[in-house]
Amino acid sequence: MIFLVGAVTVLGFLEDASDEDDDGPPAVCRGRPLREGRAGCAEASLVTVEADQVRVELRLASGQVDCPDCQEALRRWGWARPRGVHGIAGVLRPRRARCRDCLITHVLLPVTVLARRAYATEVIGAALLARAGGAGHRRTARTLGVPAATVRGWLRVMGARLEATRLRLVQVAGRAGVDRPVLKALGWPWRELLAALGAATAAVTGRFGGFGVLGPVTAWRVAAACSAGRLLSPGWPPQHPGATGNTSCP
Ligand SMILES: [Zn+2]
Repeated sequence: MIFLVGAVTVLGFLEDASDEDDDGPPAVCRGRPLREGRAGCAEASLVTVEADQVRVELRLASGQVDCPDCQEALRRWGWARPRGVHGIAGVLRPRRARCRDCLITHVLLPVTVLARRAYATEVIGAALLARAGGAGHRRTARTLGVPAATVRGWLRVMGARLEATRLRLVQVAGRAGVDRPVLKALGWPWRELLAALGAATAAVTGRFGGFGVLGPVTAWRVAAACSAGRLLSPGWPPQHPGATGNTSCP
């Protein structure tokens, strides 16, 4: 399977250099306040994986998670710091893995979260969806129970990359073999983004089914996977496709 299988190297994942085994996503951790959207310090290489930790462990053990840099199989290499993420039950503790060939360590980030964000992918997606429907950030914030400033930040970031993201998703749809045109000129760039996301999701589910290697295929998980968790991170989409080594998308 092509989609949602490959590994993606991403720079920009939060990491707290004061803790050797601490490079999880930004969120509530050990009583620390949220640092939504703010970088900690060092950057780490990131690989998108499914939310099901058991499956992640099985794939790692059987050498099915490739290094995004050299395609050698990754091996378990400790854990990132446990963190709470709004919208996800329990505590998230991403696995760390190391390539036995190039010796680079990667954080395996589930598609249920985005780099630099303390809220679940689906929560952020709901805010973006609401914006496409014409809602302002305050109303969306109230609906989702998220601080208005946080929602405003999400919308600002995505608002500045709507066309680039749309083009990336159209590219994904094309590679996955979607056979219908992606609507354009809907009069509202946000809706055009959703149209592209819908096409990408339809292409992926049409080709691979509604339950991919990385778990249930939802539109926002497609967006997370195709951006390697960087949907709202600096530098994404890359100006030159492939510059970040994104192999999660077809
Ligand atoms: Zn490697």
